[in-house]
Amino acid sequence: MLSTFPHVYPDELLISVYARFFLRLRATPEMTARLLFGCSTILLKGDLPHRLSHLAAILPPWYRPTVREMIEQHTLLPFYKLCRPYYEYEKHIMGMRTHPYDRGTISQLRTVSTLRYCALCCQEDRDQVGEYYWHRSHQIPGVQVCPIHQVFLECSEIPLLKIRATDLMSASAATSLQPAAPRRINLDDQDHRRILRIASELVASIAPVSSEHSRDRCSIYQLVKESLYLTKHCAHKPPITITEIPKAFIGQEWTRNLVSLNQ
Ligand SMILES: [Zn+2]
Repeated sequence: MLSTFPHVYPDELLISVYARFFLRLRATPEMTARLLFGCSTILLKGDLPHRLSHLAAILPPWYRPTVREMIEQHTLLPFYKLCRPYYEYEKHIMGMRTHPYDRGTISQLRTVSTLRYCALCCQEDRDQVGEYYWHRSHQIPGVQVCPIHQVFLECSEIPLLKIRATDLMSASAATSLQPAAPRRINLDDQDHRRILRIASELVASIAPVSSEHSRDRCSIYQLVKESLYLTKHCAHKPPITITEIPKAFIGQEWTRNLVSLNQ
């Protein structure tokens, strides 16, 4: 029975909890991986981790959230469900409980390339819980700014989709984050206001309690398209070229995602 698994913070990405557990356990990377996943050679996807049934089997019965709650509140599956019209939700729930599985239509959606963070959320997290952690809402495709603090998100060097089970140290926000100075958006700029509106609506779309801001699947899809994160396979029109980025965004960190989109 694993009684030392950490409490999950609000809006925390599950991979972030794994990394905090590794630091807490102080065991070797191989031992920690075998304990959490039953295997030390797997690659984890930060948005949709798998082998959660193994974790469920070693957690105490009173531990919360449950595995299903972890999937729904601490991974990006609920967001992908909103974006894909023919998405088989339960099939993916099953896949995340067990072995690596085909991402299916999710693979057509451009995910963020590396874990991202808000410099001001980092400060608040350190003040309130004593450490940094990765937020789920900052990894949503199409979210370029933190809707709470109205600053641009910053990119880390940690790849979202290829995290070695034995390299949770690198995936740890505590050891890898050195928050940059916050870069505030300019509310006098209409493009900045547009990107803030999109971020606010996308984050609200997977809030635990739905609100009047909730949108239907089609409009979520449109928001993501508007934010230029869909792949070429999925977009109805070719993505805009780098030269068409609104002038106000040139030089901002997140535009590097647009560069890769056009390669
Ligand atoms: Zn923030």
